[in-house]
Amino acid sequence: MTNIAFIGLGNMGGPMAANLVKAGHQVRGFDLVEASREAAKADGVTIAASAVEAVSGAEVIVTMLPAGKHVLAVWTEVLPHIAKGALLIDCSTIDVASAVAAHQLAQQQGVHSVDAPVSGGTGGAKGATLTFMAGGEAAAFEAAKPVLDKMGKKIVHCGAAGAGQAAKICNNMLLGISMIGVSEAFTLAEKLGLSHQALFDVASTSSGQCWSLTSYCPVPGPVPTSPANNSYKPGFAASLMLKDLKLSQDAAHSSGAVTPLGAHAAELYAEFEQAGHDGADFSGIINFLRERAAK
Ligand code: NAD
Repeated sequence: MTNIAFIGLGNMGGPMAANLVKAGHQVRGFDLVEASREAAKADGVTIAASAVEAVSGAEVIVTMLPAGKHVLAVWTEVLPHIAKGALLIDCSTIDVASAVAAHQLAQQQGVHSVDAPVSGGTGGAKGATLTFMAGGEAAAFEAAKPVLDKMGKKIVHCGAAGAGQAAKICNNMLLGISMIGVSEAFTLAEKLGLSHQALFDVASTSSGQCWSLTSYCPVPGPVPTSPANNSYKPGFAASLMLKDLKLSQDAAHSSGAVTPLGAHAAELYAEFEQAGHDGADFSGIINFLRERAAK
């Protein structure tokens, strides 16, 4: 049993903390929102009065927060109260520069740290089937692995500090682009009188094959579990895809990478959000393409 502090008990953090409780760990959590605290309490998390109280005596501290500024603020607040040699794991999706800055804050206090963003959404958080992409020193990664194992099924050490965030935004930029590509193929097929199933049967076993088509098909029918069969309820919300595409473009600008399709995907998801679809699953971008064709 490990004493674990968990800060940020929202849609992802709540079920992740619950899985650590189920695995037999002592988990003390904190969130700014009362409803999140109550839900975590019902799952066996001991609720602290503050983030500082949550980390007191903890051997491992996990944060699952909205963005880089929240992670830096919480880490700055709690680090003076964390024992030297303890381990801080940030599972939020944040910009690479903030992730590297957070590692430096931890290092200054003699605390080990890992950036470990996730893929797999709320379903993966509930089912403990998340994929973790981790960045940090090898010893810190080895210490984090047994804890991450209880919340996910695949854990990849991607490299030094910030490498986990780098892997996450590269993957999600590719995902955003491929979802738009698959959606364009289906909207063109519709105009050409080709059925969804016919395109799926060909493309899913041909060179157009990809996850956005075969696991998360943006039209109802061919993949019964995809959000298209459930009125495009998320799933993975379009607002989160836009967040990740913006992070990819910030990273592309600061590193000098050329990502014209990533830039265009970010523009299309921004328009999709402005058109009032931000609560929809990101595969709903196909409806936005149809709306544009109808204009
Ligand atoms: P969420 O908004 O549901 O949860 C974030 C929680 O952090 C909120 O409950 C909020 O009250 C809390 N919080 C903010 N500042 C705090 C502070 N100072 N102290 C304590 N608590 C604080 O978001 P989420 O969907 O759980 O996502 C969390 C992270 O995971 C984000 O970085 C997101 O990009 C990433 N992510 C989300 C998904 C998804 O499908 N939801 C998938 C992969 C990655």
